[in-house]
Amino acid sequence: MQILTSPQELAALCRQWHTAGDDIALVPTMGYYHAGHMDLMRHARGLARRMVVSLFVNPAQFGPDEDLAAYPRDAERDATIARELGADALFMPEPGSMYAADHATWVEVPELARGLCGQSRPIHFRGVCTVVLKLFMLSQADVAVFGQKDWQQQAIIRRMVRDLNLPVRIESRPTVREEDGLALSSRNVYLSPEERAQAPHIQQGLLLARSLVEGGENRVPVIRDAVLAHWVRHLPLGRLDYLSIVHPQTLAALDTTDGPALMACAVRMGKARLIDNILLRP
Ligand code: AMP
Repeated sequence: MQILTSPQELAALCRQWHTAGDDIALVPTMGYYHAGHMDLMRHARGLARRMVVSLFVNPAQFGPDEDLAAYPRDAERDATIARELGADALFMPEPGSMYAADHATWVEVPELARGLCGQSRPIHFRGVCTVVLKLFMLSQADVAVFGQKDWQQQAIIRRMVRDLNLPVRIESRPTVREEDGLALSSRNVYLSPEERAQAPHIQQGLLLARSLVEGGENRVPVIRDAVLAHWVRHLPLGRLDYLSIVHPQTLAALDTTDGPALMACAVRMGKARLIDNILLRP
């Protein structure tokens, strides 16, 4: 596995691979690997002759009051994992090589980025789209793999790819969870033992919503209230950021769950902001 820090080197290496007839799968990450990242890499490994993993804590997707400086990092361990999972290249750029001091070009999908996480993180998805487009351009990836835990992110990236006719296929993978149901996240390390003990109730609430829909309930306010009531009882350390039921592709808010419906949430617990989602009607 080659470890690259320069964007130009990554572009040159990937050009060389394409010239030799090799296709390329890309897994963009911010590092501090857990089994969710590892699942994406295992999946990507089977998709193309070459696998590029990027590890970049992208400053452009963090707001001024967010956890950029505190974001957990362990590049050495991450490199070992990426190597063991068959990455051909690990791209770990310095922020200065991705963003010039006078960087001024942004890619946005405002329609899909306003709601859900975008409400409390107004510049987040602009930062995500911009860095992901850079990674697509540099790697010339044929396929890129994302996690469904960040549902809004993969929906926005799919739209960007479609709207800009980018020659890359997007695949997404189901959320990998702890045994008790908590979605794996690099940010779970922020949780105190008390918060960690309550955190599985985030998914319990979402599962309750799905069972209501399966039982015939279709009214969004009723379903939402039932989840909130579950959280009041079982998740007292959580502070709600949002809990919404939206169309899985357009992310438009729904009144009923008669068609495809995704319930998505963000809950703050101590220093952590945890997100999760569930398809209520696939
Ligand atoms: P991150 O390093 O948190 O930016 O995540 C990198 C990629 O891993 C994104 O596509 C995420 O959606 C994905 N990912 C993060 N957590 C999980 C998880 N628990 N299960 C599956 N994929 C995940």
